Amino acid sequence: MLRTHVLGTSVRGRPIRAYELDNPAPVILIIGCVHGDEPQSAFAAEALVELLQTSVGEMMDEHVFVVTCLNPDGLELATRKNANGVDLNRNFPTANWRRGDPQDMFYGGSMAGSEPETQVVLDLIRRQQPRRILVIHCIEPTRHCVNYDGPAQSLAELMAKSNGYPVVADIGHPTPGSLGTWIGYERKIPTVTLELPENLDAETCWQTNRNAIMDFIQAEFE
Ligand SMILES: [Zn+2]
Repeated sequence: MLRTHVLGTSVRGRPIRAYELDNPAPVILIIGCVHGDEPQSAFAAEALVELLQTSVGEMMDEHVFVVTCLNPDGLELATRKNANGVDLNRNFPTANWRRGDPQDMFYGGSMAGSEPETQVVLDLIRRQQPRRILVIHCIEPTRHCVNYDGPAQSLAELMAKSNGYPVVADIGHPTPGSLGTWIGYERKIPTVTLELPENLDAETCWQTNRNAIMDFIQAEFE
């Protein structure tokens, strides 16, 4: 059985939950719905939890943490940003963090790590020391890809073999304050960002990526 954790709460007090497949092995962390207007990413993370609750999960010996929805307020409001109007994927305390314009869709917050949702991730990573991380996002049509930060090229290629998406080392625009920059680029923890095509429905996105996500979990540690 999976263990359920409430890691913290959002700006508006909604619980941020994680589901743990608890085995004696290095932790693999998976995070869905950093941006509230990318509901397919929450659906995929929830579908993964459902899969891990079946006999599939019972037969696995990996140690997996799944945060199904990091931005529950944004999901409810269908907004990219959290309820404070901050882009959580620009709020991590990277060397190149910048505040930016509150009106901008990439607003980084009043200070690095200012948001409770960001603190949930920082705290979880500090406590669990994951050996690799998969973050699920959505992107405009035709730009779907497996993006990676840090030493994760082989993991990205493994996933691409299964979902047929292009592997992209650089998403094409600077991402100061992003989770991938903080954990993958700066801390060298292999980090893959799966970008689902936002024009496809959630079930199709999950079915296309189910094996790729399982391959990510079950890959050998290097
Ligand atoms: Zn996103």
